[in-house]
Amino acid sequence: ARELEWAINSPALLEEHAAINKGIVRTRFPPEPNGYLHIGHAKSMNMNFRLAFEKLGVPMEQRRTIFRYDDTNPDAESPEYIDSLRRDLAWLGWEPERTTYSSDNFQTLYELAVKLIEKGLAYVCDMTKAEMEAQRDLAKRRSSARAVGKDPDLEAPIPSSDILPGRNRETSVERNLKLFEEMKLGLHEEGSLTLRLKMDFESANPNMYDLVAYRIRYTPHPHAGKGWCIYPNYDFTHGICDSLERIDYSICTLEFETRREPYYWILWALDMYRPKVYEMSRLNLEYTVLSKRRLLKLVNAKYVRGWDDPRMPTISGLRRRGYTKEIINNFCNDVGATRAMNVVEMAKLFQVARTTLADNTRRAMAVLTPIKVVITNFDEEAVKVGEGGMTFEVQNSPTDPSYGSHTVTLTQTIYIDSEDFRLEDDSSYFRLSPNQPVGLKYHGGNLICDDIVKDGDKIKELTCHLDSSEGRPKPKSHITWVPSDGITCEVRVYNHLFTEPEPSDRWEEELNPASEIVHPNAIVDPSVLELVDKKDVDKWKSNQALQFERLGYFVVDTDTTFDSLTKAGKLVFNRTVSLKEDKAV
Ligand code: ATP
Ligand code: MG
Ligand code: MG
Repeated sequence: ARELEWAINSPALLEEHAAINKGIVRTRFPPEPNGYLHIGHAKSMNMNFRLAFEKLGVPMEQRRTIFRYDDTNPDAESPEYIDSLRRDLAWLGWEPERTTYSSDNFQTLYELAVKLIEKGLAYVCDMTKAEMEAQRDLAKRRSSARAVGKDPDLEAPIPSSDILPGRNRETSVERNLKLFEEMKLGLHEEGSLTLRLKMDFESANPNMYDLVAYRIRYTPHPHAGKGWCIYPNYDFTHGICDSLERIDYSICTLEFETRREPYYWILWALDMYRPKVYEMSRLNLEYTVLSKRRLLKLVNAKYVRGWDDPRMPTISGLRRRGYTKEIINNFCNDVGATRAMNVVEMAKLFQVARTTLADNTRRAMAVLTPIKVVITNFDEEAVKVGEGGMTFEVQNSPTDPSYGSHTVTLTQTIYIDSEDFRLEDDSSYFRLSPNQPVGLKYHGGNLICDDIVKDGDKIKELTCHLDSSEGRPKPKSHITWVPSDGITCEVRVYNHLFTEPEPSDRWEEELNPASEIVHPNAIVDPSVLELVDKKDVDKWKSNQALQFERLGYFVVDTDTTFDSLTKAGKLVFNRTVSLKEDKAV
């Protein structure tokens, strides 16, 4: 235990590091390729690539971060995940010193395991999973008894040394070497034998109960190929890889705190370079789940459109939804890195998105659920204001002139949002109704509803006229509209994925059925076509943010097949975030 303290807190250790690493300070980001990266990983990346160095005052040129695939479990890992991890890391802007794979160390790890056997610190064990669980359970109960000053032999007597400390602990080194070799050669069945570390069953820490270091698995490895049928476990691999890579600060999340002891036990036993382990709290975010296992379930059960569904808290989902790397990294910076456990409000992420997208986002008008409006006195009005009088120049950004401007043109037929019309109004309603005019944005005149054309119960269109006379009443508000040559598109608006801020164990029942609202017949002002390089339709999909006035920030979805030249195909927008927090949908 004293040695452990020393390893964690010793200035001497850091001096040793400095001597070995010659002033370079190294961290690592080690995801397992068993799913896509999520925003919790973004917090970890922000810590390992930036924040940790800032906290430590390490100058820029001395900072190094290794991107390591922690790939020791071939069952859950795949080339798809390997590629996605690399893509998302690069997209977030982090540049690793180099990319490594734990599996590239399989041979070294094997040799180190042999070394532990030779030292009498590891043995081959033939206990079944159930026996190991019973063993662990018994050791735990004895430890609890000891902790409260009771006699473990009375509280949790050992039925047989076969179970505790276990029948294989005293096997000779020669026999262990032979059995381990046989395991490697594929002479034993999956699950029949493991290699275990000879640790301490009297420890208060169950992670010290003779950890399994190797297991037999006849599954080829997505990176290492077919060469192995024994695979090292996480605890055995992780510390050794950290050590081989000369990591100074091995930063992980708090649930790994109890794994520090085995981490250092292994490195002491092998007399290897010892990184300094530091834990920070996991990022928990309201109304979502940050666990690859759960996210995988959402994908497999088709609750979402895939790992990159805009409702997913994955990096690829956030990207598709229109979150930029600046938004994600600014958010992670705001969240910081502490040991305090908490659940961060989703509103905080939304707020960072709004601040980051704010004034530098190009604007356009759009309606989500259109109602057709025919302006009966359009020609008279047009004549009144003269040639070009129905065309208005609109700044792309109200605060930044460098974004230029676009024009919008009022036409005889326009579309307004059904939200902006009501048959019955009251004192809190400021928009159009049969008894109440409303201002028309950019034109400035009042729109007055004269007649409602119905198709059964459905409102088919409104017959209106414009009043732009000097003495017209001042309207309570101005509404947005799109002209007759607007472009039809699908707009997807998102709500929380879950109905509960902290999804429980029954999280699958807490999915929000209204997490995605699709507006299949939305219309957007044709000026958005200016954003497209006419020859390069894919530019639509390059995450160009738009602000649809009064509706929020939007981005073109990857489902888009729209061709801006022929105007054929489907145009799909995702809402990134609303303009204000209280406007949920
Ligand atoms: P998951 O439960 O999602 O599989 P994990 O910890 O097993 O999470 P890894 O791929 O092993 O996922 O994680 C790589 C690194 O990212 C680790 O250092 C881990 O601690 C960190 N990390 C994972 N999830 C979070 C989170 N929610 N907040 C902060 N760091 C995280
Ligand atoms: Mg992990
Ligand atoms: Mg995991």
